[in-house]
Amino acid sequence: MKFISTRGQTEPLGFSDAVATGLAPDGGLFLPETMPQFSAADLARFEPLGYAELCFEFLRRFATDLPAETLRALIAKSYTTFADPGIAPLRSLGKNRYVLELFHGPTLAFKDFALQLLGNLYGHQCEVRRETINVLGATSGDTGAAAIHGLLGKPGTAIFVLYPDGRVSPLQERQMACTGAENIFALAVDGSFDDAQTALKEIFGDQIFRKHHRLSAVNSVNIARVLAQCVYYLWAWLRLPAAERGNVEFVVPTGNFGNVLAGWWLQQMGVPIAGFKVATNQNDILHRMFSTGEYRVGAVQPSAAPSMDIQVASNFERFIYAGVGRDPARVREVMATFKATGAYRFEQFDRGIFSSSCCADAEIPAIIARVLREDGYLVDPHTACGFKELNPDRVSVVLATASPAKFPETIQTAVGIEPKHPSLEALKSRPIKKHLIKATPAAITAFIERHAV
Ligand SMILES: *Cc1c(COP(=O)(O)O)cnc(C)c1O
Repeated sequence: MKFISTRGQTEPLGFSDAVATGLAPDGGLFLPETMPQFSAADLARFEPLGYAELCFEFLRRFATDLPAETLRALIAKSYTTFADPGIAPLRSLGKNRYVLELFHGPTLAFKDFALQLLGNLYGHQCEVRRETINVLGATSGDTGAAAIHGLLGKPGTAIFVLYPDGRVSPLQERQMACTGAENIFALAVDGSFDDAQTALKEIFGDQIFRKHHRLSAVNSVNIARVLAQCVYYLWAWLRLPAAERGNVEFVVPTGNFGNVLAGWWLQQMGVPIAGFKVATNQNDILHRMFSTGEYRVGAVQPSAAPSMDIQVASNFERFIYAGVGRDPARVREVMATFKATGAYRFEQFDRGIFSSSCCADAEIPAIIARVLREDGYLVDPHTACGFKELNPDRVSVVLATASPAKFPETIQTAVGIEPKHPSLEALKSRPIKKHLIKATPAAITAFIERHAV
């Protein structure tokens, strides 16, 4: 299987190279050259499999350049770190309502599904290529923590994560800065997330520095992340009663469009899914897109669901590619117009099986309280956005993207209880090891020079 760029000006690459490259050199995003198709017989065969084995059966269609046993072992290792034996348990909340719990990984958010695996893929690459790798990323919270836990203690790797000092939650900071591992560097920059992101882009633009340190990015556009996320949709679909499967709508709390894209790709591979709901918080660029056909950037408004506080959905380009008839020239035109003017209007936009919703910040605590009252289930602020309004005619599976214990202040305000999780409690007594740094490329590259592997 080869991976091509949405912008059509990059040589197709095999899985391992596409994973190592991250963003395609032409600025586009990698996608599978063709979508493999799963037949009804394949799906029946998958039904009894455990999570890791299902993941292997899925990914082997894509990671065709890795020996099967290597892939199987890397996947098995990736999911042993999950605390629930079901890995991604599907809970029924009564008629037509389910929650898919994606928060049983080491950092208690769904990003662990992809980043545990990505960490092991990187580790394997270091081993077979006899090279070290230095990972650099910027985070507003969950991604950094999940990336760090994916690479924790992996020989041959170091990870540098930039985050805005004082602007991630105290627990998120502890998840990054209290690991005690030698190869982890939590860099608290004196500036905003955007300042960190700008410095990072400049560093990645320096080809000599980048090559010299074999720098790699772990952002949400990495093809391995999307593919790893397809698996839990398949897993959930297989757990539903057979009579409900064809009528299921997955409700996905959305920021960068990575999570919901994964589900949609699975549907494109022949798994009968009736719909997807893109559930945004008040940063509603995607809700506006799906309701009006216009993709227009706005200003980011900080919210109680911070991991969805984005305005430019980096994975959306993969959806655009399909929307413009898989024509890379048109993707380039859309992205250039969007970059120049901050907006693009799709003529005759067909939203297909997508619907969308937007949750104002003030609504989040009330939704948390209502879901607890009506369904006896405690949701985190991101998952709450998915519960805004469920279609009663559909079987809804809401993706629970984070554990409520990660957001104790909001939960306390909403329902008067403080959720706790043993892994977070343990962090509170551990020393914080962070490095305060200026948000300039010079300061950051100097730090990397000193600590790179
Ligand atoms: C990252 C994140 C999201 C948004 O996911 P996307 O793939 O960016 O759409 C939602 N909820 C939580 C808890 C997250 O960490």
